[in-house]
Amino acid sequence: MNQREANSGSLDLSAFWMPFTANRQFKSAPRLLSGAKGMYYTSYDGRRILDGTAGLWCVNAGHCRDEIVAAVREQAEEMDFAPTFQMGHPKAFEAATKIAKHTPGDLKHIFFTNSGSEAVDTALKIALAYHRSRGEGQRTRFIGRERGYHGVGFGGISVGGIAPNRKAYSGGLLPSVDHLPHTLNIAEAAFSKGQPAWGAHLADELERLVTLHDASTIAAVIVEPVAGSTGVLIPPQGYLQRLREICDKHGILLIFDEVITGWGRLGAPFAAQYFNVTPDLLTMAKGTNNAAAPLGAVAASHAIHDTIVNGAPAGIELFHGYTYSGHPIATAAACATIDLYEREQLFERAARMSPVFETAIHKLRSEPHVIDVRNLGLVGGVELKPRDGAPGARAYEVFVKCFEKGVLTRYTGDILAFSPPLIVDEQQIDEIFTTVAQVLRETD
Ligand code: PMP
Repeated sequence: MNQREANSGSLDLSAFWMPFTANRQFKSAPRLLSGAKGMYYTSYDGRRILDGTAGLWCVNAGHCRDEIVAAVREQAEEMDFAPTFQMGHPKAFEAATKIAKHTPGDLKHIFFTNSGSEAVDTALKIALAYHRSRGEGQRTRFIGRERGYHGVGFGGISVGGIAPNRKAYSGGLLPSVDHLPHTLNIAEAAFSKGQPAWGAHLADELERLVTLHDASTIAAVIVEPVAGSTGVLIPPQGYLQRLREICDKHGILLIFDEVITGWGRLGAPFAAQYFNVTPDLLTMAKGTNNAAAPLGAVAASHAIHDTIVNGAPAGIELFHGYTYSGHPIATAAACATIDLYEREQLFERAARMSPVFETAIHKLRSEPHVIDVRNLGLVGGVELKPRDGAPGARAYEVFVKCFEKGVLTRYTGDILAFSPPLIVDEQQIDEIFTTVAQVLRETD
């Protein structure tokens, strides 16, 4: 079946209620992918599509890598599932050990989830359990950030700062949450290459919130080191360091949500190492197993782990977990993925390709409609001037036209986002941005 047949109705599109998608718009002109290898997808109508986004910021080693496919197949044949409560299986332990080799500082205790959203909610619960174990159970408040995206659980949307994601559910949000301002300021820092020089002072807003709420009520601050989903917001120089200092001063935990920045995207294992700022809890998902099966995780420090585990009376220490925490197939894929990252030195490769990516994306500066370009490592955003009265429409059109020309991009509002697999080469980087430039010139 090809795209035309899908359009003409022989593939029934009605039953699948698609996530984060304008269903009616999509189903009137579907864009379907049916195959993937390395840097490319194959569209349903047989076209080769260059993947400028690593799927959804997740296929960091490139698609359908033989070693990962083999590991998934072998595990599926050997043992599909093992109970994960009060029972174990080797792959989950092996995967945790491999992950802990790359996590920063002493964040060496790995709690598995199935997604980034679950990792975020798990991290928030661990933070509360930690304070309670230390006799500071009154620390229940979380501080997130405007334009933060932390998945779609009730914890995640509460600490997240995206109004439409919260609006319909406002009755169910966590009660004690406040938000820092986001750090994007196009007037001050447009077209910054890498980290903007402007904006470290915005971290001092945390002191204001501490004064307002009193430190003794605050459990944790959660931020994405680079905010991805709301349009690639790069932290100002010194900003994350300042957040760390203020958290330390007041006994507040710092959580980095590294679902996007983890696993080499910035040219280091995690953003924590890239920025040289170590959080107390770190969430990951996506690149952990190259998105071969659903998997997320939280890495916790010794202090947090030991306080909860040793502080609890004999029995279960953390009343939390998922049927599929450490699923055999997902963790087998993680083991093979991390081996691949190490063998091919893909994080070092990402660091080497970052200047090439930076030069290429900033060439878009002079193209029509572009009001900002921002980048760090192998992630970048291009902000377009919104069309009068139709926010998001211009970027959507560019996204669709790029797909028609064989390049997969992502858009959020009027921002185009780019995050190719770490195996991307110079020609492919050039093709991505040359195509975008061409499309921008053809777009009103
Ligand atoms: N946190 C961040 C920073 C993310 O980017 C995402 C997903 N884009 C999530 C959490 C949620 O992950 P998932 O979609 O796997 O639940």
